[in-house]
Amino acid sequence: MTDREKTASRSFTSTGLSDPILRALKALGYKEPTPIQDQTISPVLAGRDILGTAQTGTGKTAAFMLPVLDILSRNGKTSPNRIRALILVPTRELAAQVYENTVNYSRYLKIRSTVAYGGVKINPQMIRMSKGVDILVATPGRLLDLYRKNAVQFQDLEVLVFDEADRMLNLGFQDEVNEILGLLPSPRQTMMFTATLPEEVTHLAKEILKNPLEVSVIPEEITLDAVKQYVYPVAHERKTELLLKLMKEKGWLKFLIFVKTKNRADRLVKKLIHAGYIAQAIHGDKSQGARTRALAEFKKDKASILVATDLAARGLDIDQLPLVINFDLPKLKEDYIHRIGRTGRAGQAGEALSFVSPEEFDSLKDIERLTKQVIARVETEGFKLDPPLPESKLDTRPFKAKKPKKKKKKEEPC
Ligand code: AMP
Repeated sequence: MTDREKTASRSFTSTGLSDPILRALKALGYKEPTPIQDQTISPVLAGRDILGTAQTGTGKTAAFMLPVLDILSRNGKTSPNRIRALILVPTRELAAQVYENTVNYSRYLKIRSTVAYGGVKINPQMIRMSKGVDILVATPGRLLDLYRKNAVQFQDLEVLVFDEADRMLNLGFQDEVNEILGLLPSPRQTMMFTATLPEEVTHLAKEILKNPLEVSVIPEEITLDAVKQYVYPVAHERKTELLLKLMKEKGWLKFLIFVKTKNRADRLVKKLIHAGYIAQAIHGDKSQGARTRALAEFKKDKASILVATDLAARGLDIDQLPLVINFDLPKLKEDYIHRIGRTGRAGQAGEALSFVSPEEFDSLKDIERLTKQVIARVETEGFKLDPPLPESKLDTRPFKAKKPKKKKKKEEPC
């Protein structure tokens, strides 16, 4: 939570939430609602549909989950294989995070919840569904698998929440989403949360929301000024050597490091472990269990290196890192901003280092053009390039907006 996001005018007590929920919030150390919670909780309790524009980090999960828990705990009960609320999310990571929050918020309530996503065995999920649950957090593909196996039925559904709707459509889940919508009963209460409002999302919102209350929180701008950025020119094949040298000299033990491919992530982890460091990889080929463990250990440990690919790192709830290293520059220039936005938050100084090989010079030029700056270079003794990396000249022309693609290939099997 940043200071700006914390600036709220009311306490949780005046939102109308029931006592067991207020107790859970107290136990979790939530003192006051964030702006999105402030705007959303009471209207949801009163039965309104919601269109919320908010990103991860604003407290949006509690904004919908707290009133949903309140509504479900007031009356009704679960029947075998049936669900009363469905939270549809685009990725396994988000599913795991939302579920974890649900368990935390409902600790003093008699609410059954579970989570279902792809990439893990379906049988345990079917067994958990057999008694019926109040809340199911699921990714679209796995939800349909469960439905086809008759493990989930929608007759009792009262509440539907779309979380990160823009990402869901971006990842190519349009068909699954339509199929699911065709299976759900109406009337029901529906909420949709999204970080951005592209045309496809507003179209879907119009289709599924009834007279929605539109709430929006301006995301905290990633102030690149708060992040000290450096480019380390280095030959492609000497990047690991450079990393180990800098780690030894500067005593870095905990940081997030981005690589281009899953393969490079695994190889770098092996080399770091071989050199005596604690390191874990997080990427799309890892099982969900491995990803969740890696993230939990990284958050907990003082000495731990997390090696990530861009896709796996998106939406991860990792805050306040003093150091982010780009072992490789990202394939998409915009990802540079997402990556380094993980450091230097909430007024804290952060550092972002990029290892740049001659082959990556064009990507560097694009990043500098996007971020409207020439990034300072640091030459490392023994790693000088011959010929050197060309000098950057700032290209001040803005990038033209690309036409949106019709439909992208699914990136994550969920
Ligand atoms: P979210 O945007 O839902 O991913 O939430 C971001 C983080 O803020 C999570 O770690 C939540 O546990 C935390 N959080 C949510 N609401 C509050 C609150 N009112 N006070 C303090 N922390 C909160």
